Amino acid sequence: MSIEANIYKTGVELLSHKEIKSSILNLKSWSTALMDKMMEHESFRLAALRFTDVAPSLRTDDEFMQHLNAYFKDVSGVSNFIGKGIPGQGLLGKVIAPVGRQNIKSMAKTFIAGETLADGIKTFEKLHKEGIACSIDLLGEAVITKAEAESFMQGYHNAIREISAASKTWDTAHYKENDSISHISRANVSIKLSALYEFTSATAHADSKEALCKRMGELLDTAMACEAFINVDVEQYEILPLTLDVFETVLMQEKYKNYPHIGIVCQAYLRDGEKTLKRLINFAQKRGTTFSIRLVKGAYWDYEQAHAEQKNWPCPVFNLKEDTDANYERLTQILIGAFPHVRPCIGSHNARSLANAIELAKEAGLEKADIEFQALFGMANHFRNALRDKGYRVRQYCPVGEFIPGMSYLVRRLLENTANQSFLRMQGQADIDVDTLLKAPIFGHETEHKPVNAFANAAEKDFSLAQNRARAEQALTAFKVRLPLNVGKKTKESISNACPWHTDIKVSHVYCTSLNDTKKAIQTAKTAQATWGALSIEERAQILEKAADICERDWDELFGLQVYEAGKDWVSADADICEAIDFMRYYARQIRTLEGNLQPHSLWGESNKTIYEAKGVAAVIAPWNFPLAISVGMTSAALVTGNAVLYKPAEQTSANGEKMVKIFHEAGVPEDILHFLPGKGAVVGAEIVQHKDTNVIAFTGSRPVGLGILEEAGKLTKGQAHVKKCVIEMGGKNAIIVDSSADLDEAIPGIVHSAFAFQGQKCSACSRVIVIGSAYEPFIDRLKEVVSNLRIGAATHPEFDLNAVIDKTAQEKCEHYIKIGKKDGKLLAHTPLNKGLSGHFVSPHVFTDLKADSKLTTDEVFGPVLAVYTAKNIEEAVSMALDNDYALTGALYSRNPETIDYAKTHFKVGNLYINRGSTGALVGRQPFGGAGLSGTGTKAGGPDYLLHFLEPRVITENTMRRGYAPKDA
Ligand code: NAD
Repeated sequence: MSIEANIYKTGVELLSHKEIKSSILNLKSWSTALMDKMMEHESFRLAALRFTDVAPSLRTDDEFMQHLNAYFKDVSGVSNFIGKGIPGQGLLGKVIAPVGRQNIKSMAKTFIAGETLADGIKTFEKLHKEGIACSIDLLGEAVITKAEAESFMQGYHNAIREISAASKTWDTAHYKENDSISHISRANVSIKLSALYEFTSATAHADSKEALCKRMGELLDTAMACEAFINVDVEQYEILPLTLDVFETVLMQEKYKNYPHIGIVCQAYLRDGEKTLKRLINFAQKRGTTFSIRLVKGAYWDYEQAHAEQKNWPCPVFNLKEDTDANYERLTQILIGAFPHVRPCIGSHNARSLANAIELAKEAGLEKADIEFQALFGMANHFRNALRDKGYRVRQYCPVGEFIPGMSYLVRRLLENTANQSFLRMQGQADIDVDTLLKAPIFGHETEHKPVNAFANAAEKDFSLAQNRARAEQALTAFKVRLPLNVGKKTKESISNACPWHTDIKVSHVYCTSLNDTKKAIQTAKTAQATWGALSIEERAQILEKAADICERDWDELFGLQVYEAGKDWVSADADICEAIDFMRYYARQIRTLEGNLQPHSLWGESNKTIYEAKGVAAVIAPWNFPLAISVGMTSAALVTGNAVLYKPAEQTSANGEKMVKIFHEAGVPEDILHFLPGKGAVVGAEIVQHKDTNVIAFTGSRPVGLGILEEAGKLTKGQAHVKKCVIEMGGKNAIIVDSSADLDEAIPGIVHSAFAFQGQKCSACSRVIVIGSAYEPFIDRLKEVVSNLRIGAATHPEFDLNAVIDKTAQEKCEHYIKIGKKDGKLLAHTPLNKGLSGHFVSPHVFTDLKADSKLTTDEVFGPVLAVYTAKNIEEAVSMALDNDYALTGALYSRNPETIDYAKTHFKVGNLYINRGSTGALVGRQPFGGAGLSGTGTKAGGPDYLLHFLEPRVITENTMRRGYAPKDA
């Protein structure tokens, strides 16, 4: 018989196991009803998944009922889910809420082997008696604090010891505990590396690797003392290189080199899954001691696809389930072929994949005990038992832990069981026959589903890749030797800038443009503009695109400038370069279609046309905090619309500014069109604002300067015959609201990043958090723990969360506000500064209980200072958030659809974010700019931004002559 025929035969046997007639998922009736409903209605499925996720964290019955109503009020089928009709609050709610909670709890119990380790061990013994082996997985919150990582480490140590001790007392196993190589340990614990270290980061690879190797080694010591097995689970693709590196490094250490009771996961949904598997097999040969490889399809499929699309990175997973299935079969063959260098473990709930593995193992001459099958607790028990009855060892992966952190695990299981392409779901459908279920999966049905002609943001560097990290390090080393830089043409007056995070490093001498030279530049620009403005749109657009290409080419130098001159960390530095590239490419696209898209109606006999022309001379005045992106944004908008530009960089980051100007010149912008005018704001800046020949002013910076510019620009200067157009973007005092149903695993890292990344020096940074009701205590407890343990140091080292603020003035301003916080409120947390730092370092501070009129509530600090407040409900929280002159960004963390709707309508800020932090607007996706005293309502990186740099003229022609008019004139 051919192998296909054998696979079919074995598949049919698995599908015909005596337990197949019982419930496929082995769930209790209520849960089964829920699943059925989820499969029938997509809207119900979404609501049920989201509600299940939030339900356990709802602290009161009222909250539970509010959410239930909010999720299911527009969804049919709710009665099957919770009992009778859509429940109300009050008395009925008091009855229904506990029943609902109990139902969800019992569903969770189907997939979670126990709430405590002791409960779990009882379940494992029961399984053992039934002839099933197990592996423990500890559930828990996402690890963001040191205490959480320590608690996981402790949990793993305990789990290893206790399962090991308990399992020694169990009866003889009904499954084979030896394969052709040696003994297989009964005590088996699955670990997640990201849970061992609160700072696990793909970018800070070296630091994470060091910490994780140490901690994994400690767990192995415990495991070796009791001969327990440790399996390293593989999580998101981003940390796969780190996971592999840690696994291989630890296993090669002398102490662990000969230990066989260890394993790792390989994910078949990864396009480079084969490469990973072969790497692991080669490694096993090099090491010389067998370890196990658990082959799975992969659990983060939606996440990986969405994440790659958002980052504009190649998608690491197959888009189609069938390709994953086909890859799984290919990898099964490779894995089985690699025995005895590695032990194959087949983790699947798909009868075809299982039958394929059985037949391949037979063909390769493996004993039944040489291959292990693995399944998730609570899923596909009929296959589990069928395999056991055939004499194979089956191990169930058994999560143990508390209810709330277990929810994300439960939701993943529900998602998997009810997904369209799920084998288990298909198997339950009466109209799907055995032949379809057992059909050999075939590669190559996949098509790229990228939207045609959509603008795509420049892809940020993926620092999980070793070559990108090496490039960053080399760029910084090469840049440092060039310092200090001389910026501008030599003049009498200069400004010296030191590196913010290491003031001994002198970065630049900036020569200030004289008043005379400034005036000359304005004159030259005015004269030259006509020729530039007369170029075709296409010519100017192409110059912008060329400039974007040069930015990509000169990434290393731009990166060095960002890190040394502005104090940007790796990720922020790269993001600023990407944003600059985005502005260039986006505005080049926009200008090509702008005029065509904005034409007025023409009628028979009347032709109307709007012509958009450059305003003339644009003054571009930039801040230091996005030293390339914001300068490029304003400059490229002015240039592509045909204006000449007088560019005045911020004093602190003039070297970045000079580089930008050089890029534009190289790309083809004439020198008499784009002028670099470094110098003091009050001198050079003031001159280009006041000058009669300036037509448009694009400014981004602080409120006092911005309002001052608006005032000056409103005055008519002698000889001026036009109104100056002002595009003014100013500061923010941005609030993030945390609702009682917020997922704190996401809210806390999101808020910490929004408040403290780049030392809080973003106009969009979060400086106020308003926490609603019962979320307050758990929120501040975790926030305190995170902030107290942030790490501060040089920007060249990616493991640091923060470095220094831009200069001494900024440092003193922050310290002043920290004093105010101490006087007006209570200090919740701060990060101690290490000794020996020589720069403008400011310790991040968080305050609570501020008195009503504290300046900390009203003023923009522009540094790492955060204030936390409480509110009774969303109405009060939004009103507090808006009780401020600024209205730039805001954010809400909530899992209540009604609260989210309320915020969308009432939380009126320039950029509102739901369930994410308040920073990181992207060109073309989040057009950016504030309302109130944050700005003039212009949206950088949006479809209407270029209009501010253009003068529209409308021409109407009567085309009727003596009663005749051409129809299309
Ligand atoms: P700033 O106002 O001190 O300086 C901005 C620019 O204005 C600099 O180039 C400066 O030299 C120039 N300038 C100063 N005085 C001037 C004058 N009298 N006439 C003309 N020009 C003058 O701001 P900054 O410290 O560089 O930047 C931080 C501020 O920018 C913060 O308030 C931040 O919120 C804001 N910002 C806003 C946005 C936004 O999009 N809304 C983005 C980034 C930064």
